[in-house]
Amino acid sequence: SSLYRVDGWGGSYFAVSSKGDVVVRPNGQSTKMSEEINIRQAIEQVLKPASMGGLGLTTPAILRFPHVLRHRLLSLQSSFEEAIKSRKFDGCYQGVFPVKCNQDRSVIDNIVEVGKPFAFGLEAGSKPELLLAMASLMKGSPNALLVCNGYKDAEYISLALIARLIQLNCIIVLEQQQELDLILSISRLLAIEPVIGLRAKLNTKHDGHFGDTSGEKGKFGLSCSEIVSIVNKLRSLNMLGSLQLLHFHIGSQIPSLAILNDGVSEAAQIYCELALMGANVRYIDIGGGLGIDYNGSSSATSDMSVEYSMAEYAHEVVGAVKDACDRKGVRHPTLCSESGRALVSHQSVLVFDVLSSSTASNRHLAAEGISLEVEALPVTLKSIHTSLIDAAKSCEYGAALECAKLLRRRCVELFKRGHLGLELLAHVESIYGVVQASWDQSKSSRADFDVDNEQGNGRRRADFHVDDEQGNSRLNVHKVHNAVYHVNISVFRSMPDSWAIHQLFPIIPLHRLSEQPRVRAILSDVTCDSDGKIASFVGGDEDQERINYLQLHELEEGKPYYLGMFLGGAYQEALGSLHNLFGAPCVVNVTKEAGADELKLGKSSNGQTTADVLRSMQHEPSAMLESLKLRLQRSISCSDRADARISGLVNTIACSFGSTTYLSTSNPMSSIL
Ligand code: PLP
Repeated sequence: SSLYRVDGWGGSYFAVSSKGDVVVRPNGQSTKMSEEINIRQAIEQVLKPASMGGLGLTTPAILRFPHVLRHRLLSLQSSFEEAIKSRKFDGCYQGVFPVKCNQDRSVIDNIVEVGKPFAFGLEAGSKPELLLAMASLMKGSPNALLVCNGYKDAEYISLALIARLIQLNCIIVLEQQQELDLILSISRLLAIEPVIGLRAKLNTKHDGHFGDTSGEKGKFGLSCSEIVSIVNKLRSLNMLGSLQLLHFHIGSQIPSLAILNDGVSEAAQIYCELALMGANVRYIDIGGGLGIDYNGSSSATSDMSVEYSMAEYAHEVVGAVKDACDRKGVRHPTLCSESGRALVSHQSVLVFDVLSSSTASNRHLAAEGISLEVEALPVTLKSIHTSLIDAAKSCEYGAALECAKLLRRRCVELFKRGHLGLELLAHVESIYGVVQASWDQSKSSRADFDVDNEQGNGRRRADFHVDDEQGNSRLNVHKVHNAVYHVNISVFRSMPDSWAIHQLFPIIPLHRLSEQPRVRAILSDVTCDSDGKIASFVGGDEDQERINYLQLHELEEGKPYYLGMFLGGAYQEALGSLHNLFGAPCVVNVTKEAGADELKLGKSSNGQTTADVLRSMQHEPSAMLESLKLRLQRSISCSDRADARISGLVNTIACSFGSTTYLSTSNPMSSIL
C-alpha cells in the first residue's frame, strides 16, 4: 500500500488486506475487520449472472459505499460541533450539500436521511437542481436550509418562493444586484415573502486551479458598494428583516488554513457590518472549499492536496467568525458550509478492467532481441548507425536515443522518396522503440539501474544491450517493463477532470497487491481520441506531486485484472460526456452488515445502453433497427435457410442496442451467439 500511498489519500476508508486486496472501511478508523468490504469480491458479485446470485452487470461499474458517505457527513457535523464547543461559540452548524457535486438520487437521499437530525440541507445552482432539492428536502428536517445560488430568472425565483410556501427553509442568494428587483416583483405577484441572502465577492483569493471563482475579478458575487446599495433599498422598503444570510465562496480545494482564515475573517466583517446596519442576518454560509488529499502528501503546495484535517478546518472557521463577532459585539450566527468535494469524493470507486497491454509485444522484442546491425543501410547513414552502436555498448542511453531518433528521421525521409524499403524502415522503427523504452526506464528507475561494479563505482547495469555470438550488439529489453495498458473506460465519461484540468485521481490495482508489480504502465482508454489516456499517478518520492507511470502486474491469461479509480465521487459523474457515445457506467450500492459474511448489493442504475446514448443524440433505435432489417432482407437472397439467417442477424443488431456501450469482456462471442 505504501507504493500507492493508500494510507495518505485513503482517508482511513481504504486499505490493503493481508491477502493483497483493496478493502473499504465504511466507518473509517473505527471499522471492525468483519465490516470491511473487499472490492474485488464486490465486483465479482456484481458481474455474476442473476441466476447465480449476482446482478449480471458489466464493467466499468461505479460501486457506491453509502456508509462511507454517512461517515463523512457525521464527521463533518461532529468536527463543527466539537469546534463550536471548544471555542465556546454560541451559534450552531447547519451544513448544506451542493447538489452539483453529485445529483444521483441515492447520494441525495442518503444525505437527506443521515442529515435529518442535524437539519442538514441542500444547495442548488439551477432550476433542475432546485426542483430536485425541493422534492428531496420534503423528507428532511423542516429547518434544513435550501440555499439557492447561481444565476436566476423569473421561473427560478418563482420556484424558490413556492418552496417557502411548502415550509422549506429556502433562501434566495443574490449573485447580482439586478436579481433583487425580480425577486421583489415576483414575491408581490405570488404573495410570498422571500428570505434573501447576499453573496459577497471577497478580496481573498487562492492561487490554485480552483481559486478562479474568488478575488475581486471573480465571476460571482456582489462588491461592497453593491451590498450597501441593496441594504439601503431593503431598508427603504422596510424589508431588512428578509435579509438573513451572507454567503461567499473562495474556491474549491482551499490549500491552507491561512487562506481559509483570511477569507472567513473578511466575510465575517461584512456579516457584522450587515448586522450593525439593521439586517436580520442569522446565517453565515462559507461556501465550499474544504479540500481533500488526492495524492496523500498532506501538503498545501499543490491543488492535489491540503495541509489540514476536517477538524482543523472547522476550528479555523469557528475561531475566525467568533473573533470578528466578539470584536464588534454581534451575536454569533448559525454556521453553514457548502462542502461538496469533502463529503462525496470518498463514497464511490470506479472499477474497470484491463483489456490488453502492449507489454506482450515488448516481451516479443526482448525474446527475439533486436539486432543493432541493420543490413543494407544506405552509406550516408552508416556513421549515425555506428554512433548508435557505440553509445549502446557503453550504456550511454541518452546518446543512443538521439542517434536512434536521427536514424529514424533520415530513414523516413528516404522512404518517402522511395529510396528505402518498408522492411528496413520497420527494423529501424523497432530499434527506435526499444531504445526509447530503455531510456524511459533508465530515467524513471535510476536506482534500479545503479549497481556497483567491481571497483565499487556506481555504474548502470549493462543490460541495455548484449552481444550475440557473432559479436553483433543486440538490444535486450528484458528489464524494461514500460507498457501501455488498455482499459475499459472512457476518460471523458468517467474522469473528465483528469482530461480537462489534469486532476489527479488515485488509481490502483484492486487485487494482487501482495505481488511485486513489475510493469510501469500508462493507461489508454477505449475512445479513439489521443487525449483518452491517463499518464499521471499517485506515488514516487514524498515531495513529488505525481509520477508519470503506474506500477502494475503483468496480465495473466484468461484472468481479469481490475483497477479502481478513487476519490471520483464529486463532480465526475455529472461532468462526464458522451464522447464516442460511451455511456454512463452501472451504479451499485454496496453495504455489509456487521457480522454478516455476505455483501448486500443494491442496483442503483444499469448504466446507459447503446439505445440510450443513441436516443440522447436524437436517433431512434426502433426506426434504425427496422431500416437495417429491411436492408438485410434485401442483401440476402431468398431461401428457407435465409430467413433463419436474417432473423439471427437481426437479433444480433437488436441485442446490441440493448447492451453496454463498453467492451464486453466476459465472453467475447456471447453477443453474437
Ligand atoms: N458552493 C459554491 C458556490 C461553489 O461554487 C462550489 C464549487 O466550486 C461549492 C459550493 C462546492 O465546493 P467544494 O466541492 O469545494 O466543497
